[in-house]
Amino acid sequence: MKRFLSRAALGLTLAATAACSVSTQQEVEMGQQYAQQINAQLPIITDLEINRYVNVLGDSIARLTNRGDLQWRFYVVDSPEVNAFAVPGGFIYVNRGLIERTTKMDQLAGVLGHEIGHVVRRHSVKQMEQQQKANVGVTLACVLTRICESQAAGAAINAVGGAVFARFSRQDEQEADAEGVRNVIRAGIDPDGIPEMFEILLEERRTRPAGVEAWFATHPLEEDRIAETRRQIASYDAAVLRSLTDDSKNYHTFKSRVQSLPPSPTPRQTQ
Ligand SMILES: [Zn+2]
Repeated sequence: MKRFLSRAALGLTLAATAACSVSTQQEVEMGQQYAQQINAQLPIITDLEINRYVNVLGDSIARLTNRGDLQWRFYVVDSPEVNAFAVPGGFIYVNRGLIERTTKMDQLAGVLGHEIGHVVRRHSVKQMEQQQKANVGVTLACVLTRICESQAAGAAINAVGGAVFARFSRQDEQEADAEGVRNVIRAGIDPDGIPEMFEILLEERRTRPAGVEAWFATHPLEEDRIAETRRQIASYDAAVLRSLTDDSKNYHTFKSRVQSLPPSPTPRQTQ
């Protein structure tokens, strides 16, 4: 995923927001453009059943947030690496490699809840606005204008990828974790999947670091993040927590279907 990253893409984003704050409509238009580019660049799984499940699960979480009015879209990227990212406007991407590491529905829901949290808190948009205030080299208007369709600008924006939207501050990550817990509980899903997923990934980093490299590059994860998430969960009423769903038959059907796909088109880079 990192291979698609370029500062140029970020520069174009900054240019789009020159000297103004980003409205929801601008955020959505920008997100649609990025999503279009990403979908053209990354191997997106087109299997209808797989897409239906991830969209039903994702939407059941997203539409109960205070940004339920966005047209949320969830995509599975056919890559064996563990990664997930959110594009402004409500476009969420999760790698096949991450799905294959989950063992229960609430773990996948937790990842979606976290990425939804980044969009709900407008982390990417705020980054753009802040960088704009700092006046970081903005010269070219794009993204929201027709200039993007010219070949030169097109080449630059083609470099867009998950890392642009996944590289958040530690504070943003903590906020997204907290949002993730709230988001899944609101949807009736057990939040324990969030710290469980962290533990699965930490364990894999200890044993087979190559497959989770991309994830840890964009999601700095320390053991205290697990502890913090568990503390937050413990503050909920135990009876409420017991009433939540942690797994489903549909999730296992979905996961089997993902696992039964032909090998991913982009073999893992080994070095
Ligand atoms: Zn994150």
